[in-house]
Amino acid sequence: MPMNNTVLIIEDDILNMKLVNDLLRWRGYQTVQSTTGDDVAELVATCNPDLILMDCQLPVRSGPQIFRSLQAGPAKTQIPVVILTAFADGNTRDLCREHDCAAYLQKPFTIPEFFQTVGKYLPGNAMAAA
Ligand code: MN
Repeated sequence: MPMNNTVLIIEDDILNMKLVNDLLRWRGYQTVQSTTGDDVAELVATCNPDLILMDCQLPVRSGPQIFRSLQAGPAKTQIPVVILTAFADGNTRDLCREHDCAAYLQKPFTIPEFFQTVGKYLPGNAMAAA
């Protein structure tokens, strides 16, 4: 596994955070957690994640607002962002396209779906083989 293998998870739902965190840790990835995404710029700067998993519906700033703040910063095209959403409707798809989001994953998702989507963007592609 590559040296730099950190995933930043932004998710306000405790159970979903635990699920995603446990799946990633199980595969040997480092994880950094944020329940609001309000500190996303600082977290990106300090932990230099390889991938950001971001819930769309968040309590302080919405996923789209956080996404825009990232796009305006130095993290812009370097870090893929996969959106987690309970509402994978046309608006979500438009949002992902508009912001060059890597992909979106509709909740609830199966473990194979999680690996298939997220694994594409992780170093070593370790999860894609699951
Ligand atoms: Mn949420």
